[in-house]
Amino acid sequence: RDLGDERLQSASALSSQGSQTERGKDVTKAERERRSASLGGTTRSEVFQQQQQDRMRYQGREVDIEGRVRLVMESTLTARDRVGVQDFVLLENYNSEAAFIENLRRRFGENLIYTYIGSVLVSVNPYKELEIYSKQQMERYRGVSFYEISPHIYALSDNTYRAMRTERKDQCILISGESGAGKTEASKKILLYYAVTCPTNDQMPALGERLLQSNPVLEAFGNAKTFRNDNSSRFGKYMDVQFDFRGAPVGGHILNYLLEKSRVIHQNHGERNFHIFYQLLDGGEDDLLTALGLERNPQSYQYLVKGNCPRLSSVSDKNNWKVVMKALSVIGFTEEEVQKLLNIIASVLHLGNTQFGEGEEGETYITTETKITNLTKLLGVDGSALGEALTHKKLTAKGEEMITPLSFEQAVSARDALAKAVYGRTFTWLVEKINQSLALKEEIYHSGKGCSVIGLLDIYGFEWETVQYFDNKIICDLIEEKPQRHHLHSGTYNNFIGLSVYDVVSVTVGEDEECLRPGETCDVSFLEKMEDTLGGHPHFVTHKLANGKTRRVMSREEFRLLHYAGEVNYNVNGFLDKNNDLLNRNLKEVMCQSDNQILSHCFRKEEAIDQKRPEMFKNSLTKLMEILMSKEPSYVRCIKPNDAKQPGRFDEVLVRHQVKYLGLMENLRVRRAGFAYRRRFEAFLQRYKPLCPETWPNWHGRLSDGVSTLVNHLGYKAEEYKLGRSKIFIRFPKTLFNTEDALEAKK
Ligand code: ADP
Ligand code: MG
Repeated sequence: RDLGDERLQSASALSSQGSQTERGKDVTKAERERRSASLGGTTRSEVFQQQQQDRMRYQGREVDIEGRVRLVMESTLTARDRVGVQDFVLLENYNSEAAFIENLRRRFGENLIYTYIGSVLVSVNPYKELEIYSKQQMERYRGVSFYEISPHIYALSDNTYRAMRTERKDQCILISGESGAGKTEASKKILLYYAVTCPTNDQMPALGERLLQSNPVLEAFGNAKTFRNDNSSRFGKYMDVQFDFRGAPVGGHILNYLLEKSRVIHQNHGERNFHIFYQLLDGGEDDLLTALGLERNPQSYQYLVKGNCPRLSSVSDKNNWKVVMKALSVIGFTEEEVQKLLNIIASVLHLGNTQFGEGEEGETYITTETKITNLTKLLGVDGSALGEALTHKKLTAKGEEMITPLSFEQAVSARDALAKAVYGRTFTWLVEKINQSLALKEEIYHSGKGCSVIGLLDIYGFEWETVQYFDNKIICDLIEEKPQRHHLHSGTYNNFIGLSVYDVVSVTVGEDEECLRPGETCDVSFLEKMEDTLGGHPHFVTHKLANGKTRRVMSREEFRLLHYAGEVNYNVNGFLDKNNDLLNRNLKEVMCQSDNQILSHCFRKEEAIDQKRPEMFKNSLTKLMEILMSKEPSYVRCIKPNDAKQPGRFDEVLVRHQVKYLGLMENLRVRRAGFAYRRRFEAFLQRYKPLCPETWPNWHGRLSDGVSTLVNHLGYKAEEYKLGRSKIFIRFPKTLFNTEDALEAKK
């Protein structure tokens, strides 16, 4: 119990050799061969027993008759040689990227997917279910220190929780990594850990369950199959979990960012639209589908056919439909709300099947007039007004209203914009609704005993690599800082504070309707806008600004951010198109009169009048920064081992790339520069006291004296350690490692 898994493995491997002092490293090859032949004096059945145990520990490992022999040979190696080190700071050659990757690879091969860099948790996606997330496992990690037990997401969850409790400071866990690396799974495991292990508050008994159930709902509406991940989150998510003074979860709040609305209308080959569409078609009861005017085959819908990928082998839409419907009811959606929600989902499909024709005089009309009745019924709007608004544009010029017909292309854009707006705003409504259900009760909040918070950030790779932003000061500044050179053309932008890459996107896409025309020129003007606002920043480069800041040639459609881990290029081509949810005013007018309460909530009358998007649709990243900065951060770095989504495959090139852009070597160097290891005196003594006759079996004096006695006995040099008020700090991991080895030998 006191020992980490790897230590246990090592200890048993040694004892099976009948010798306790020989280290694997010292055993020559010839000697190993001799032993494997004679089995080192151990009986065959003992070896077999040992192997059975090993086999159980190394889950998923196939061992045949020959394999057994191989295992005996392996057991002469130390645990470290076999499974690597559980903290990268313990690597002897900590500057070597190759050693770093080799350590990851070995551990991955043993199904040890977690490794620390100090307090940072590195996780490699196993692409298979490991039996390490059970309730028993949770128990093992409760209240246990990082170094005593093998690395785990539960250890990080537990440490964060305890830090919140003992230091009374809000915490946040920042999860980063590329798409498919395991961020969302990690965030779910953390949430599960809290839901299972924390006490409950009588006033909010079901909160843990609701927190957990928010996931399937958000995933149904916000996740989709992409090339990289069958369940890729297409929105960024920050979630606060609030705890009462006893440490029971009592509230939750979700902030959602940048839903990829373009997916509603278009998917690349092999990708899908958001899961909910397929779930509804596959899982919805016959009566429901009839009422919604839908047929089961996803390929009948223009908004679903583009990816040519109606089914997934890894996911059952039908089962998930049930899960989602149940989750909606646990969270507290009424039947009526669910009905309205499904009307909207169905209406998006009908909208996609609304087709246009071009008349002789160039006018545009709807060719699928009969089907539009379904659509208007589901949207709860006036049919002729909708038909008119999809084919005409209303403009106000010099105080006069003018109606102009739309071209065929414009009508298609208007339709798609409506679908995106309807879906996107409904998603935001959904999050609001979940937040109401998770909301901290006033009486708990005002009980005077105080609440503290753990925030979880799971934000995906997006077109920007958001990964870098949160612990990379320079990029943070670029994103955050108000640029020095702040010349903006139009008055509209002046009231924007802390303008950043993100803000430029939201300004250009969200507000500036007049300049917005889909197509290349617009993307270029977006780039120009960024040059104007961010051009002074030394880490922002474009073709025009490239003088000397970068060596590589750039195209005119790119901008580049110089991350410390490397340069990353971003292409603006099609960027705004993808993010453009421009809605003609008359479409807004139609929508705000909907008798579907969700839609009339999402499209407010004020908006149709002043042309302004209501605030509720913007969770600014500036605000997120503030939230994060006020909390104590912990980090989880997720790595994707291969592009094939397959277990057991470790693609070194791919991993190296991620190690680089996640800045892991940098993390390690920073970590090594300080005292890598710190432990409270009691814990340190407790663990190592068998190594010194004066501290064994018990030390009766002052704890710090006991620790001094112990480390002196072990021959620690003065520069290798320091004693604080309650903790010992060890600078060189090697020192600790020698101690660990001695301890193993003793056992
Ligand atoms: P991300 O959010 O980083 O894009 P996900 O968390 O959605 O990636 O993970 C992608 C897929 O990888 C999951 O659907 C799951 O199949 C697999 N996966 C990720 N983490 C784990 C894990 N710890 N154990 C088993 N499978 C995992
Ligand atoms: Mg995700």
